[in-house]
Amino acid sequence: HLPTAELQALDAAHHMHPFTTGNELAEKGARVIMRAKGVTLTDSEGNEILDGMAGLWCVNIGYGREELAEVAARQIRELPFYNTFFQTTHVPAIALASKLAELAPGDLNHVFFAGSGSEANDTNIRMVRTYWAMKGKPSKSIIISRKNAYHGSSMGSGSLGGMTYMHAQGGMPIPDIHHINQPHWWAEGGDSTPAEFGLARARELETAIGELGEDRVAAFIAEPIQGAGGVIIPPETYWPEIQRICDKYEILLIADEVICGFGRTGNWFGSQTLGIRPDIMTIAKGLSSGYAPIGGSIVSDEVAGVIGSGEFNHGYTYSGHPVASAVALENLRILEEENVIDHVRDVAGPYMKEKWQALADHPLVGEARIVGLMGSIALTPHKESRAKFASDEGTVGLICRERCFANNLVMRHVGDRMVMSPPLVIQPTEIDTMIDRAGRALDECYAEVKS
Ligand code: PLP
Repeated sequence: HLPTAELQALDAAHHMHPFTTGNELAEKGARVIMRAKGVTLTDSEGNEILDGMAGLWCVNIGYGREELAEVAARQIRELPFYNTFFQTTHVPAIALASKLAELAPGDLNHVFFAGSGSEANDTNIRMVRTYWAMKGKPSKSIIISRKNAYHGSSMGSGSLGGMTYMHAQGGMPIPDIHHINQPHWWAEGGDSTPAEFGLARARELETAIGELGEDRVAAFIAEPIQGAGGVIIPPETYWPEIQRICDKYEILLIADEVICGFGRTGNWFGSQTLGIRPDIMTIAKGLSSGYAPIGGSIVSDEVAGVIGSGEFNHGYTYSGHPVASAVALENLRILEEENVIDHVRDVAGPYMKEKWQALADHPLVGEARIVGLMGSIALTPHKESRAKFASDEGTVGLICRERCFANNLVMRHVGDRMVMSPPLVIQPTEIDTMIDRAGRALDECYAEVKS
């Protein structure tokens, strides 16, 4: 292949990257990833890097699984594409929808496919509003979401998201989306206990319903554990109270399982770990372990029944794409037959939790929490007071991310929090190496921040 510098120059000249400044690319160049196996990436300079982020929270079964390549090749030969519009279907979409109905909790028995999590959340916006309109309540159109949430980058899903820096560009949010506070006790809980704070933040949903009008609120959407917002694990009191409020006011509950789904928290779905009974679940990422782009909405009998009683004028060319569906189905087979979710719950998750304590003891670390294989640490200049750094939010996080890279480890920074979410097939010895490297990166970051 071309030398790294030439690849980087071409990349900077012609490739517009998501969430990246052009100048950064031109000055420093992007790291070029060439191939990967298991939990290890190899870059164009031959560096072997441990992937603490499973790609972008998605490569749940790890890299390099030949079975998925074979299934994709076979499906491309047999039927590379056919649509699922206008009363046509095909075996991969039928098989995947049936499997998802079997795996999903409760009466979530129906799947509307999309090409990504963003598209699936756009589907959800239209689906819940259409549901209420078809039930004779068209005024129920407001969707309540949370600040700091990430639900995608399209106009609809970006509006559901609570990232203000995203809303500042391009005219988001769309109308009738309302955001309440997130339940982040460590950063915002003040003198309250986590239990009190969890309840108080959940009750903001009830207050919002009261202010906006019960007859105008269609749905509440949230991730079981907020991921891209920095892996914010809610206090135990939070979700039961949210569930009670949604039940009481007949608000549809949408669990965005794009990150939490497919084993990340030690169950098939984060809703099972957190005790949530959603009406709709958004899925993507781990559905195919990122080997093919696919997402979708898994919908309850009630919602699907109402929507299906008319025509839902909505769909994507790649809804139920045969190759992506076949790859996803094979991925689910591997997750199931190789007991990957049990491995997260019984082996890798508990082992990682033990190791997480070592990070918690580091002088630069405040909060350190993990559920399954979804963990985060907050960087702080002062543990006891839970203080923030004087520098702009994210400055120290960025230094830490760079120090991770220098130690051949990918961790993500979200402001001044560091996030880890490795492939689910990670083994204890690999966890040891990952935590060692993270510890070294923290030491180096601490030395730099102190000086
Ligand atoms: N929902 C959540 C919770 C996500 O984390 C993401 C992506 O990170 C999305 C939705 C959007 O998914 P996609 O990037 O596949 O559009």
